[in-house]
Amino acid sequence: MRKSLAAVVAVISVATSVSAAEVVVYSARNEQLIKPLFEAYTKETGVEVKFVTDKEGPLMARLKAEGKNTPADVFLTVDAGNLWQASAEGLLRPIDSKVLAANIPAHLKDPGKEWFGLSVRARTLVYNPTKVAPGELTTYEDLATPKWKNRLCLRTSKKVYNQSLVAMLIWEHGEEQTEKLVRGWVANLATEPFPDDTKAMEAVAAGLCDVTLVNTYYFGRLMAKKPNLPLAIFWPNQNLKNKAAGVHVNVSGAGVTKYAKHPNEARQLLEWLSSEKAQNLYADVNLEYPANPAIKSVAVVSDWGKFQQNLINVAEAGKLQAKAVMLMDRAGYK
Ligand code: FE
Repeated sequence: MRKSLAAVVAVISVATSVSAAEVVVYSARNEQLIKPLFEAYTKETGVEVKFVTDKEGPLMARLKAEGKNTPADVFLTVDAGNLWQASAEGLLRPIDSKVLAANIPAHLKDPGKEWFGLSVRARTLVYNPTKVAPGELTTYEDLATPKWKNRLCLRTSKKVYNQSLVAMLIWEHGEEQTEKLVRGWVANLATEPFPDDTKAMEAVAAGLCDVTLVNTYYFGRLMAKKPNLPLAIFWPNQNLKNKAAGVHVNVSGAGVTKYAKHPNEARQLLEWLSSEKAQNLYADVNLEYPANPAIKSVAVVSDWGKFQQNLINVAEAGKLQAKAVMLMDRAGYK
């Protein structure tokens, strides 16, 4: 009896150690950004990380279609709007983890614990210092006032980044006020919206307009290639008396799938990604900010200066995203 129990235990532990040796990730974050990270994880833990990369839409559709049969343990993507949607569609499971609770600030993770921000992207103002006087720039809202007539460039409203920004403005000001604000932006546009952040910045540098709204890592990439462009970063909404004060931030992040076959390994991978050694690997390679506030950003990023983040939970961007899309459409923001 005793012997057979031992045999059973031995079989189970072999089975567990075989399945424990891997974790499967569906990632909407580029292969070049995640591969070095997963290689470091495997080197440190011996756990193999298998991953598939695609755009978030197809990956979520795949998770849904595969249902219980999905091989995916972790879903990794950019933008809280996408993470919120994965959670709303029942693709993720809540994770209780003291490590994640301690490492990731409250505003950068799902209150229901289904996803966690792992890097922070700040959506801020980039301007042409030869055309904008010091003190002229103040807030996102101010860009809707007539003093910016024909001076503003924007990326298209079709991108989730601007949808999330407008969703957060709805959270703060309500729909009516926000619609007025977005109409003000549209009225101030120097030209049609651009397909991406980089083209909008190039227009500012070329003198077509004076200011635009971008994620800082695009600024970092552009300036690395063309350091002499007349472009600079401004951190808006730093009047901290306002309860929704701060620069609009978003995350890239991850959650454990509802039908994960390796849920413990998946949790351990997320915990590792939130840890000191992984946070720099995760954020620096894309010139983002570590989500863990104990970790410093890479020098080129910290050189852009300190700023207060908006501390409203990024999940609100997901909840209000559909409203934001309709509002931008009504306001004529293409
Ligand atoms: Fe991006």
